[in-house]
Amino acid sequence: MTDIAKDECIFCRIVAGDIPAEVIHQDEEILAFRDNNAQAPTHILLIPREHVSSVAELDTSQESLAGRLLLGARSVAESEGLVASGYRLVVNHGADGGQSVGHLHLHLLGGRPLGWPPG
Ligand code: 5GP
Ligand code: ZN
Repeated sequence: MTDIAKDECIFCRIVAGDIPAEVIHQDEEILAFRDNNAQAPTHILLIPREHVSSVAELDTSQESLAGRLLLGARSVAESEGLVASGYRLVVNHGADGGQSVGHLHLHLLGGRPLGWPPG
């Protein structure tokens, strides 16, 4: 991706430290930070450091990155104390999925009964 596109991606800007975020966890491949419009008492986003626009753009060569995101979510859920009460992981894609930021992210939601199905 071009530097211009990267400059315009809000989550790439969070990775770069250009936009502040409450970071919960980071390693060489992923970053976890609190959603700034939380839909639950705990609402954390996990993203790859590298720009991947959507789950639909994940390549089979990125299997380990995909696993990192899932296992990262599991580990953050543990550190946030959500295992006993329960939590939900969500990945939105495209218009019907409600994706509003074009950088792959996994939502970790918990801290209240979330209901099903989602609206
Ligand atoms: P989506 O609708 O694409 O699945 O989720 C995008 C999420 O990113 C939303 O829940 C939204 O509140 C969150 N978000 C958008 N911009 C920012 C930001 O600048 N900082 C943080 N922390 N979260 C953001
Ligand atoms: Zn990005």
